[in-house]
Amino acid sequence: MRILVVEDDTLLADALTRCLTQSAYAVDLARDGAAANETLATNPYDLVVLDVGLPKMDGFEVLRQLRARRSSIPVLLLTARDTVEDRVYGLDLGADDYLTKPFDLPEFEARVRALIRRGYNGVTSEVVHGRLRFDTVGRRLFYDDQSVDLTAREVALVELLLSREGKVVSKEQMVAHLYGWGDEVGSNAIEVYVHRLRKKLEFADFNVRTVRGMGYLLDKPREG
Ligand code: CA
Repeated sequence: MRILVVEDDTLLADALTRCLTQSAYAVDLARDGAAANETLATNPYDLVVLDVGLPKMDGFEVLRQLRARRSSIPVLLLTARDTVEDRVYGLDLGADDYLTKPFDLPEFEARVRALIRRGYNGVTSEVVHGRLRFDTVGRRLFYDDQSVDLTAREVALVELLLSREGKVVSKEQMVAHLYGWGDEVGSNAIEVYVHRLRKKLEFADFNVRTVRGMGYLLDKPREG
């Protein structure tokens, strides 16, 4: 899961970024509307946290252009003004949810989880793969009812593979979903993570195949 945070207030931007990173999301930060607009046009995101009051281009305009490109990425608007007109305007432009500053981080996290869950498959918060079960809200993997101990990056990788079960995921897609801009990505980092994940889930029916020259593919679970 990769999230774009668009916020010009440094303190708030840092707090939001840290909070999301700790929850195992890959996070990019844009500090003005023009930069946000540019990155949204070219990068895949699973969620945008969008401040309304921004330099260069306001959040409403970023949102308007995003929806004009027919993107359905969930958008959580942040605003300093709590007026009905603003809320209605934002929702009419295609925002999915709304938070008025100041807000508490636990509430922010809950809204983020709800929007990602909605974008994930619309209804349930769980993805089942044989005896494995991934809780997209709590971001934890279970084997039967036993929690599987994974690092934040491994969680992100499991999540991505499960969401593309039976389809090839390229290394570039993995890098895009697992890392933010600020992260150094070693040349064989993805191989290392896939290798570790295979080892950790050896006991489960979690077969990640290498598709030469293309990427990786998680097999559908065997029947029964
Ligand atoms: Ca602002």
